[in-house]
Parts: sequence; C-alpha cells; structure tokens
Amino acid sequence: MVGAGFSGAVLGRELANAGHRVTVIDTRNHVAGNCHTERDPDTGVMVHVYGPHIFHTDDTAVWEYVQGFGAFEPYRNRVKATARGQVFSLPINLHTINQFYGKTMNPEEARAFIEAQADTSITNPQTFEEQALRFVGPDLYETFFKGYTQKQWGCSPTELPASILKRLPVRFNYDDNYFKHVHQGMPRDGYTTLVERMLDHPAIELRLNTEFTPELGAGYDHVFWSGPLDGYFGYRLGRLGYRTLDFERVIGDGDLQGCAVMNYGDADVAYTRTTEHKHFSPWEEHEASVLYRESARACTPDDIPYYPIRLVEEKALLGEYVSLAESTQGVTFVGRLGTYRYLDMDVTIREALDTAEAFKTALAAGERPAVFARPPLG
Ligand SMILES: Cc1cc2nc3c(=O)[nH]c(=O)nc-3n(C[C@H](O)[C@H](O)[C@H](O)COP(=O)(O)OP(=O)(O)OC[C@H]3O[C@@H](n4cnc5c(N)ncnc54)[C@H](O)[C@@H]3O)c2cc1C
Repeated sequence: MVGAGFSGAVLGRELANAGHRVTVIDTRNHVAGNCHTERDPDTGVMVHVYGPHIFHTDDTAVWEYVQGFGAFEPYRNRVKATARGQVFSLPINLHTINQFYGKTMNPEEARAFIEAQADTSITNPQTFEEQALRFVGPDLYETFFKGYTQKQWGCSPTELPASILKRLPVRFNYDDNYFKHVHQGMPRDGYTTLVERMLDHPAIELRLNTEFTPELGAGYDHVFWSGPLDGYFGYRLGRLGYRTLDFERVIGDGDLQGCAVMNYGDADVAYTRTTEHKHFSPWEEHEASVLYRESARACTPDDIPYYPIRLVEEKALLGEYVSLAESTQGVTFVGRLGTYRYLDMDVTIREALDTAEAFKTALAAGERPAVFARPPLG
C-alpha cells in the first residue's frame, strides 16, 4: 500500500483480514494522510493539520465500519460567513436571506423573492457565474460566491463550468446544518488514532518516512497506489493541476471567533476561511485556542496537492495518464490522488472496501485485478 491515508489503511486492513501480508508505506512521518490530527503543542487543542475534516455520510455500512476503530462524538458543521461588513449564516438559508435583505419573509415569500432576483434571461447557463446569476441573482452571487470562488480556484467564475453549481444553493428554512447526511460526527481521539488502530494488525507492516521506488515495489505481488497518478509515472507527460492551501497559524486565549469555520466572501480579504480547531472538539475544554487562516493558490511541485482542478486541460492530460495506467501490470490506483478526484472520507472508505472485495474476487477467479477501482474519467 503506497500511502497510509484512509485508502491505504482500509485496503491494508481488509486484505490483512483476508490472510494477505501487507506493507503500508508513507513518505510522511504519520499515518492518516490528509486527515491527520495531532495535539497542538502550545494549546493542547486537537488540530486537523491539513485542514478541517468532518465525517458525514449516508452510507450506514461505512459509518459502522469506522466506529469499529474508535468512538465518534456527535458533530454538526455550522459555518458562518463574513462579507461586506456583516456576519451571515451558511449555507444561504432563510436567516441569511432575511438578514441580507432586511426582511422577515416566510419560506414561500422568500422563494418567490429569490426567484424574482434570478436572471431569467439566462436560459442555458454555461459558466459558474451564469448558473449562480440564474439561481440567486447578482446580490447574493456577488456577496457569497464571486469573491470566494475566485480565491478558491484562482480564476474568474466566468471561466468555471456551470456544472460546479449543480443545484440551487439556497435553503428556504432555518436549517444551518452544512451537511445533509444522516450520519455526522467527529472521532473522539482524532483521525490519526483511528487510522493507527486500522493498521494495528499482525499481518500489516507500517513503514513511515518511506518513499515508493520501483525496486521496493518489485518485491511484492501487487501494489495499491494512493499517491498522485502522474507521480507514479514520474510526471513524464506533465503535471495534473491541483490547488494547494497555505495555513497561517494564530494562537490566543479564550474564544477567538466563536465558531469552527468562518468563510470570507470579500475578494479583498486574502484568505478564504478561518478555522478555530477547538470548536471541532466541543466535548473538550481548552483555555487557549489556535486558529488557522486558510488561503488557496496554484500547486507547485514542492507543495502538497489538495484539490484536483479537473477542467478541460487537466481532463485531457488525465486521459493520457489513464491510458498509460491501463497498460501497466501489478498496480491498482486508488483514492483521491490515485484517481485525481475530490473524494470525501466516506467515499474513500467505501471505494477502498469495494476495491478489497474486487481484488479478492479477481484473485479467486485467477483474473487480473483492476487497474482502477473507479474510472477517473467516469
Ligand atoms: C482541505 C480539505 C478538507 C477536507 N475536508 C473533508 C471533510 O470535511 N470531510 C470529508 O469527508 N472529507 C474531507 N476531505 C477529503 C479527505 O481529505 C479525503 O477523502 C482523504 O484524505 C482521502 O484519503 P486518501 O487515502 O485517498 O488520500 P490521502 O489522505 O492524501 O493519503 C495519501 C497518502 O499517500 C502518501 N504518498 C503519496 N505519494 C507517496 C509515495 N510516492 N510514497 C509513499 N507515500 C506516498 C501521502 O503522503 C499521503 O499520506 C477534505 C480534503 C481537503 C483537501
């Protein structure tokens, strides 16, 4: 298993349970990949080192699976937004709309009001901007979407496809629970402890601070690769584009912002959001606090790849890497980097469980295991 994130850990555990001997390697000095959590040395707060992670899923089997490795505390993600000198509730809901327009509308009135704001002259929206204008009109678009999207993706919303904003991003009630999933929570001891327990199996050998090399891979019957797809091929066709994140750390006493996540919609505020991590563990008590200002930019070869860009240019290059991968023997590409897709943790775990099953079935049938558990272009 190349990578000790959820992909490598779940696959490793499932194959070890099935009687295989598994080695899990990671270049980092810790397990859990980008979901890694650790105690902040100054405040004692459990910090989500690569950005905040909230577990949310409708997949009951996955929910039960993760709880087999540690207790979860109930957690609801309630996000606020600072924009144009005010603080609003997100996702845009009836509270946001009434506050923004200084009204006291009920759901039906608000629905009619927002429909009246929408630009109905746009009949076939092609870009993110057109889609947003078609859904909510210029006021809400410019306050909540335009600046934020520009900062997050480093380009104008006129250059992004309409498909990014699939549904009307507004709720006509006071529900401010960011996610709709039936199961939502946070691992009591953090994600890293959870993944350490997954990897705690007599048939699993864990090697941290270890980079994959073809020589290392040659000693194994099969390689599961959860590193970057293009990285497996030494980036020989060029680099798939990612956005990376910078985190500026701020420590202080008490409560710094009163909530876990504050988004910043204004284009002239450099960061996209601030996250105060003690609010991700509301069952703990800490006098001091640590907050991160998060901003996004283009990923260089020296940065951590976070969000795959997947626009027209990247998809063309991805197609070339997929062809290359399909002609490769003895390797299966998995996870967010291995398939160049944004995957939530629950989807990552579901795919790893399914990949383990498919691998066992292929071996039993004497067939070649699939190169991709999920086709990256599908
Ligand atoms: C900012 C941000 C916030 C997110 N928030 C949420 C959230 O709230 N809820 C949610 O469900 N999901 C969230 N996610 C998604 C979540 O991070 C992923 O689902 C998860 O990390 C995918 O796990 P993985 O194992 O596929 O990849 P990773 O966690 O990236 O693990 C891959 C591992 O492979 C290692 N590796 C790479 N190349 C090599 C190599 N050559 N040799 C050895 N090791 C190598 C890396 O060091 C890494 O540890 C978020 C993602 C981001 C970017």
